[in-house]
Amino acid sequence: MSKKITHRFSDCIGCGACISISPEHFSLNPQTFKANLIDGQLDESDPATPVQTLTTDSLDDSTADLLTISCPANIIAIEDLT
Ligand code: SF4
Repeated sequence: MSKKITHRFSDCIGCGACISISPEHFSLNPQTFKANLIDGQLDESDPATPVQTLTTDSLDDSTADLLTISCPANIIAIEDLT
């Protein structure tokens, strides 16, 4: 099933948990020291809270759950697409 990942990167504290859990989806931006959603699209429709989004078929349910519960800043949201 496809999933949509939303990453509110401006509030990232750079802890690296998401990168450890899913290195194919998250990397560290060496300039900002925040996580980067790999191949994510920048969405600045709300300028106060820009996000990166990615639709992917390569994220299983357990990894998705781990990503959302492990982010201490609570800025990773993942939804199933039908
Ligand atoms: S787990 Fe959350 S706070 Fe930590 S690097 Fe990833 S997005 Fe940033």
